[in-house]
Amino acid sequence: MAAITRLINRTTSSSFSYLARRSFTHAPQRVDPKDRNVQWVFLGCPGVGKGTYATRLCNLLRVPHIATGDLVRHELSSKGPLSQQLSEIVNQGKLVSDEIIINLLKARLAAGEAKGESGFILDGFPRTINQAEILEGVTDIDLVVNLKLEEEILLEKCLGRRMCSECGGNFNVASINMKGENGRPGTVMPPLLPPAHCMSKLITRADDTEAVVKERLRIYNETSKPVEEFYRSRGKLLEFDLPGGIPESWPKLLHALDLDDYEEKQSAAA
Ligand SMILES: [Zn+2]
Repeated sequence: MAAITRLINRTTSSSFSYLARRSFTHAPQRVDPKDRNVQWVFLGCPGVGKGTYATRLCNLLRVPHIATGDLVRHELSSKGPLSQQLSEIVNQGKLVSDEIIINLLKARLAAGEAKGESGFILDGFPRTINQAEILEGVTDIDLVVNLKLEEEILLEKCLGRRMCSECGGNFNVASINMKGENGRPGTVMPPLLPPAHCMSKLITRADDTEAVVKERLRIYNETSKPVEEFYRSRGKLLEFDLPGGIPESWPKLLHALDLDDYEEKQSAAA
């Protein structure tokens, strides 16, 4: 992919100093793709590990990792212009509207651009077809990576999640070893076990029951299908079946993204 040769070494900051300069009226400028870094979207159902892979790629490509959940939390904690409205919505347990999310995102992109950021990876956004349509009017998306795992494995992974009640650490006790079928390779994902001192303090989140997880996946699939179709029809969707845990999946993902030389070059240059 030609984009790789254009990657610019820029330092990115996770601090959101954009609040002082925010503007809801000016969309970020559209820059010719050859003059900027990647503008990608990562999709995938809850539990697939999308945040993990998106974060790793952001570090590799030196682009900001933008997750709308973080934007909402930051707006709330920083008492930004939308925080009053947001806290009412959140306190009432309602969903944050597409309009608010898009405004937060626009402000984040414009501020990043103002401080010299180039490119981004959006994590878990757009979530709905409506958001995808609005986003198209805001900025250009080069590629949408759809991370997938078989539902059976996802379910096991979600049911294996544990948290340490003392230190808050997140672990996973599921040990997945699925045999390959019909020409498909098998999947091995070792558990992510806690250190010995956390072992006796592990708790399961109340909403990680089979029924709740299945419902979460059903809702996700229902809303994400049209979003996938939207990008597929534009020739921008890359489907990626995760072959296992991070050690197996990471190199294959880099290969699928035509980035396999990139990591070597980066470490050689370092
Ligand atoms: Zn612990």
